[in-house]
Amino acid sequence: MTNTNTTAVSFEFFPTKTDAGHEKLIAAAHVLAAEAPEFFSVTYGAGGSTRDRTLNTVLQLDSEVKVPTAPHLSCVGDSKTDLRDLLNQYRDAGIKRIVALRGDLPSGMGQASGELRYANELVEFIRNETGDHFHIEVAAYPEAHPQARHFEADLENFLRKARAGADSAITQYFFSADCYFYFVERVKKAGVDIPIIPGIMPITNYSKLARFSDACGAEIPRWIRKQLEAYGDDSGSIAAFGTEVITRLCERLIEGGAPGLHFYTLNQAEPSLAVWRQLR
Ligand code: FAD
Repeated sequence: MTNTNTTAVSFEFFPTKTDAGHEKLIAAAHVLAAEAPEFFSVTYGAGGSTRDRTLNTVLQLDSEVKVPTAPHLSCVGDSKTDLRDLLNQYRDAGIKRIVALRGDLPSGMGQASGELRYANELVEFIRNETGDHFHIEVAAYPEAHPQARHFEADLENFLRKARAGADSAITQYFFSADCYFYFVERVKKAGVDIPIIPGIMPITNYSKLARFSDACGAEIPRWIRKQLEAYGDDSGSIAAFGTEVITRLCERLIEGGAPGLHFYTLNQAEPSLAVWRQLR
C-alpha cells in the first residue's frame, strides 16, 4: 500500500446546466471535502459559455463547502475586458488560485475571436493585471497536445507557459506512467522546476472514455481497451477493473515522486474515492 500522507489531492468539477445536476455536484463536493483536498477546481466553457455558472459554482464551493476553489479560465473567444472583469471578481471574492488555459471553442461557435491566442499569453495577462495574487496552474500534455506539430514543439510551449509565470501544472490524463516521468524529466532538464501534477481519470464507462480520449489525444493501451470492450454493459466489472488499473497507475506515480494527484471527477465522488482510498 502506498503512503499518501504527503500526497496532495485535488478534485475537478464541471458547472452543470440544471439545478438537479448542481445539487449532485455540491453533494459530491461535500463527500470529497472530507478527504482534505488541497483545492477543488471548476471548468470553464471556452468562449464564456459557462461564465456565470463557473463563477457561481466556484464561489459556492469555496465559501460553503469550504475548500479553496480554483476557477478554470480560458482565453479563446473572451475579450481582455471580459477576462479582466472575471479576474477582478475572483480576486475580490478571495479566490487565490486559477487554472489558465487556451480552451477549445465548441463547434458551431466559429473562429476564435479572443485577443489572446495561447495560454502563455493568458498567463502573462493575469500576471500583468493581478501581480502575484493568483497561484497560476497551466495544462501539461505528457503525450503531446493533439494539435501540436510534434512533442518537442509542445514541450517548448509548456516551457513558455512556465516562464510566463505559471506556478504549477496539471496534466491531461494518461494511462502510461512512463510518459509522465519522461515529460517531467525533460522539463527539469530544460531548467524549469515547477510541480507537474498528474491528472487522473477514473474509468467508469468505456464508450465515454473512448470518445474523450480520441478528442484529447490520450492513448488507451490496447490491453485496457480490450478488457473494457469485453465487459460490455457490465458496469460493476468495469468499475472494479478501472479502480484496479487506475490505483496501480497512481501508486507508480506517487512512488516515482509525483507531487500530487488531480482527479477528473466528472461530478461524481465515488470513482475517485474508490482509487484514493486504496492509496491510504
Ligand atoms: P496552449 O498551451 O495555448 O496550447 C494549445 C496548442 O497550441 C498546443 O498544441 C501548443 O503546442 C500550441 N501552441 C501554443 N503556443 C503556440 C504558439 N505560440 N505558436 C504555435 N503553436 C502554439 N478546456 C476548456 O475549454 N475548459 C476548461 O476548463 C479546461 N480545463 C482543462 C484542464 C486541464 C488540466 C487540461 C489538461 C485541459 C483543460 N482543457 C479545458 C482543455 C484545453 O483547453 C485544451 O486542451 C486546449 O486545446 C489547449 O489548451 P492549453 O491551455 O493547453 O493551450
